[in-house]
Amino acid sequence: MSFETLNLNPRIQRAIKDEGYTEPTPIQAQAIPCVLEGRDLLAAAQTGTGKTAAFTLPMLEKLGGTEGGGRRHVRALVLTPTRELAAQVHQSVRTYGKYLKLKSAEIYGGVSIGPQTRALRNGVDILVATPGRLLDHLNQGHVDLGRVEVLVLDEADRMLDMGFIHDIKKIIATLPASRQNLLFSATFSAEIKRLSGSILNDPALIKVAADNTTAERIRQTVHPVDKAKKADLLAHLIGTNDWQQVLVFTRTKHGADKLSKRLAREGLASTSIHGNKTQAARMKALKAFKDGRVRVLVATDVAARGIDIDKLGQVVNFDLPEVAEDYVHRIGRTGRAGNAGEAFSLVCVDERHLLHRIEKMTNSRIEKVMVDGFHPDPSIKPEPVKKRGGGQRRGSFGGRKPQGSAAGSGQRNGEFRRRAR
Ligand code: AMP
Repeated sequence: MSFETLNLNPRIQRAIKDEGYTEPTPIQAQAIPCVLEGRDLLAAAQTGTGKTAAFTLPMLEKLGGTEGGGRRHVRALVLTPTRELAAQVHQSVRTYGKYLKLKSAEIYGGVSIGPQTRALRNGVDILVATPGRLLDHLNQGHVDLGRVEVLVLDEADRMLDMGFIHDIKKIIATLPASRQNLLFSATFSAEIKRLSGSILNDPALIKVAADNTTAERIRQTVHPVDKAKKADLLAHLIGTNDWQQVLVFTRTKHGADKLSKRLAREGLASTSIHGNKTQAARMKALKAFKDGRVRVLVATDVAARGIDIDKLGQVVNFDLPEVAEDYVHRIGRTGRAGNAGEAFSLVCVDERHLLHRIEKMTNSRIEKVMVDGFHPDPSIKPEPVKKRGGGQRRGSFGGRKPQGSAAGSGQRNGEFRRRAR
């Protein structure tokens, strides 16, 4: 199937061609005709499947944007869980809409509100926003969403996990009742089904990958290692394999900073991104990594959400995530758009139960490979895994408090104690 058969505006087709894309990805091939027909959509698609273009392209087609002129009002609203994803979706809107006369803006917290307010006052057709900051603007009367025609909830599962449900509902209450709704989610949990039931109207259902299956094209390896030797092993792997662009995940913000400094001391250009850094600092770090000036980017889960790097070769889990779904999100940073990718997890004895959870969820066994010189010391006994700062914890699904919530950071031993061997 080619993009031509989708009958998109020639100006949009030209922009697609500029990107070098010849064929729609499966999610695009299914979603675009549905959206053009005007149907609501419930789509299960993980990042890396081309989901952004799957809603952006038909959205641009519907908005037209070949005439220009006149006072603008928000006609399409895209909500995303994180600033990075908002910035990235907005970039896609700009890329695919570059030959159209549509105005767009990105709205998120962590940056000053003034320029956003001015952009909104000047009028935009397309708004890409995180819920919290958009609500601030709404409350202050900076924007009117009363004529929105298309609403997109991107990574809706993530928005629920991050506690945005009330903000989303408040925002939706300001939209006209008659509109088209598109909901994208990596998983179809009961909560997502509930949300979609309350928002979507007779939606078309699209699934491009079975629930929670890890992308098959990503080669996954576990390296068992002692906790104290993880940083040495990572430096060893980067050096001996000559990895040039590697994304490393740590569980805590502090851990990300510490590891990044440690690698820098080993002569590996490295930087970190996490929720304690300003938006400007995060963007700067990401740019340095994308440009190849920094070889290793160390990130926490929330900060890494939405990072899209073409042809990122390796993802390393320096710590395993507490939540098995995060593993899938993490390794999904590599192996995008059909490229091969590799994911390595450095797993110490304390984390075996987390590995077990991941294998159970993905319904697969991950290959264990010992690295010479880094064999774990069998005399080391497991200890409970320390919780992330801020005491965030979610249940089987949902319930994770938003970043910065005041919950304590103590460990719940029972929950993290390793099961008996
Ligand atoms: P997404 O799932 O939206 O995060 O997109 C994943 C990656 O696929 C991005 O780097 C896009 O630039 C790329 N991409 C999107 N659509 C296509 C396509 N039709 N052909 C090739 N690459 C694509």
